[in-house]
Amino acid sequence: MKRKIIILTITSLIAIAVLSSIEYYLVKTSYDYKVQEFRKELDRQYGKIIADFSYTDSLISNLDTLYGALKFKYLNEEIDKKEFISEISNNEIKKLIDPHLDKEFEKLFPDMNINFAQTLDMLVVYDKNGQNPDTILYQPGPKIEHMVFGTLTSLKDAFKVGTNTGKISTNGIRDRLTKHTFFISIRNWEFIVLRRMAFILIAAVLSILTVIFIFVYTLRSLIQQKKLTDIQTDFINNITHEFKTPLATLGLATATLKKQQGQENFSKANNVVNTIERQSKRLQKLLDQILENSFTNNQISLNKEELDLEKYIGQVISDFKLTLPKGSINLESCDKNALIKVDPFYFTTAILNLLDNAIKYNNTDKPFIGIKISNEENTTAILISDNGPGISKDIKPHIFEKFYRGSKGNIHDSKGLGLGLFYTKTIVEAHNGTIELLDTESGSTFKINIPK
Ligand code: ADP
Repeated sequence: MKRKIIILTITSLIAIAVLSSIEYYLVKTSYDYKVQEFRKELDRQYGKIIADFSYTDSLISNLDTLYGALKFKYLNEEIDKKEFISEISNNEIKKLIDPHLDKEFEKLFPDMNINFAQTLDMLVVYDKNGQNPDTILYQPGPKIEHMVFGTLTSLKDAFKVGTNTGKISTNGIRDRLTKHTFFISIRNWEFIVLRRMAFILIAAVLSILTVIFIFVYTLRSLIQQKKLTDIQTDFINNITHEFKTPLATLGLATATLKKQQGQENFSKANNVVNTIERQSKRLQKLLDQILENSFTNNQISLNKEELDLEKYIGQVISDFKLTLPKGSINLESCDKNALIKVDPFYFTTAILNLLDNAIKYNNTDKPFIGIKISNEENTTAILISDNGPGISKDIKPHIFEKFYRGSKGNIHDSKGLGLGLFYTKTIVEAHNGTIELLDTESGSTFKINIPK
């Protein structure tokens, strides 16, 4: 049981770990997908701002004029490359562009805190004749220092939403080449994306929690079950132990009775005393078995004997008859010379359990048990039938289970531990035999097959 619990715990933990990893992977993939979608949305909106507002256009074209003027100064050697770039970065037009774009973004994304930037990544100017390209700036990775306008202070964590390469010519003469990149950063954008996938997140967390809950619940039930089984075993051990002393006394008393028996009354009394002795020995052995907890298939060590079947069954029946308050028991048919190789002690227990049940559950006025013995090809079959209430289809699959008791009718009036059929099956199987409950119209019929 302890091993079972450990194995179950380890496998369940592995399964939970695998499941969590798969869920993590799925959530991560859908998160990445949502981020991409979010970027695309920003891209679209940025495109709208640029395309839809003529005021924005006019502001941007003011920048064009600034570039033209600076190029003129550069060609006249009034400023060098460094100054060219710094003039662009410190331009005054951004003071108009920034608040304007700020407002436009606020209109489009009212509940988001948005910052933006446009960087200059490349600037190549041509001379008056559109010849001799001169690289003023070439920056493969955009830098915040080269921001033309915007409110961002760092490009870290900002989304790159657009790149714009411009080839500007005046009157058909090449003027300059530019490359700009536009960035947007949104405060807590991760939170916004996560909020958009709230359903997936909640479902993932709930499903993992459910699995963990089921696992803990099952484990707890198992541990509780183990405790209960331990208590049950202790209880059975204590009870059987307590029974041992009175039985030993009974054994001694019968032995003394046997000695004291007068010769003249011997044969008549002998039968009764012998029956008492046989039955008290049987009880003692039964208790020993329970004490040793030896009722599992591989723990039964059999002492097989070859018995005359008719004689053996006859003796079991006659002993049983002594305990029978009402009703009758009858050996209906038997092959006269049939032999059976069984351990008489264990096998008698198996048969007696069936006979006990046949009377115990019988609520008719005239309980009847019929025993048939038939010689089959490789086995000897023993059929035990009764005229009782029969066993319903619902409980049929469980009757051979340990501690199982049927709940039909007023079963709790008839005492039992739910061990009888379990023991019988265990004993029959230890003999390499089989036991089954046959389908009958009325009553119950059990069939035992013992190999020859
Ligand atoms: P117990 O008799 O202690 O309950 P058993 O293992 O002998 O335990 O039997 C299991 C259950 O099978 C019984 O509780 C009863 O419901 C059912 N059963 C067994 N034998 C018969 C029978 N001959 N007729 C009706 N029901 C039976």
